[in-house]
Amino acid sequence: MSMRELVVLGTASQAPTRQRNHNGYVLRWDDEVILFDPGEGTQRQLLHTGVTATDLTRICVTHFHGDHCLGLPGTIQRLSLDRVPHRVAVHFPAGGAEYFARLRHATSFHETAELAVEPIEADGQRITVRGGTLEARRLRHSIETYGYRLVEPDGCRMLPERLSAYGIAGPAVGELLRVGHLDVDGRRVTRDEVSVSRPGQRFAFVMDTALCDAVYALAEHADLLVIESTFLESETALAAEAGHLTAAQAARVATESGVRKLVLTHFSQRYSDLRRFADEARRHFGGDLVIAEDLTTVPVPPRRVASAG
Ligand SMILES: [Zn+2]
Repeated sequence: MSMRELVVLGTASQAPTRQRNHNGYVLRWDDEVILFDPGEGTQRQLLHTGVTATDLTRICVTHFHGDHCLGLPGTIQRLSLDRVPHRVAVHFPAGGAEYFARLRHATSFHETAELAVEPIEADGQRITVRGGTLEARRLRHSIETYGYRLVEPDGCRMLPERLSAYGIAGPAVGELLRVGHLDVDGRRVTRDEVSVSRPGQRFAFVMDTALCDAVYALAEHADLLVIESTFLESETALAAEAGHLTAAQAARVATESGVRKLVLTHFSQRYSDLRRFADEARRHFGGDLVIAEDLTTVPVPPRRVASAG
């Protein structure tokens, strides 16, 4: 059965707290299982969630600050320890290749797993993945940083009862899909008459950035947006200086971009009570809001309602 959900491994920026592990997120997108920004402690957090190293198909790193990548050595070695049989792709900012090389070979280990190392070389780079296209956009932070979004193309779903009403079966269905219409007993049947549109879903992942155009481009019409909100509005000046977002900014981005479900995370260790993030975001965003918590799962919302053909 297909499953699309976010598994939250950790929600702490910079330094972990008693309640919050360093960053770490897994996106299950049917057969594509992507680990984003594995911070320290990722291996053990994975263990708690039931996601195994063998489940992973891809790793995406936004940038090489420790809270987003110190879990790479453990995770990469675990792929070999568990004899993961498939190639695992790894994406990260090309400018940080030296950091990646060090993390990958941080200690001695018996390497058996195969990594497909595919750095992000430019803003807007696109990678075809199972279930859509992964796109990287350059964010505004103190070092080279990319946010990611996964876009599934729109499709259509055939309606068996309509097909059978027209007597269309077997290879004729494929032809109708391909050509867009089919002549049956002297009457032209169009694809729209026997199908409904199936809107593609979108996931966006925005970490460590000041507000910039790329944030909006990534968030545009996301069904699920995971976005950093390191600070509260009371620290707006500090956020801008450090290249980070406030909860209010993140919530306004979500509203202006037509986001359906907003997940706030990457909280500064200065805050212990996260209800303040919910209160602040609520003032700017009326959709589904989640203040991320370690070791929880956030389902991707059901598809937008399909329009009848
Ligand atoms: Zn960070």
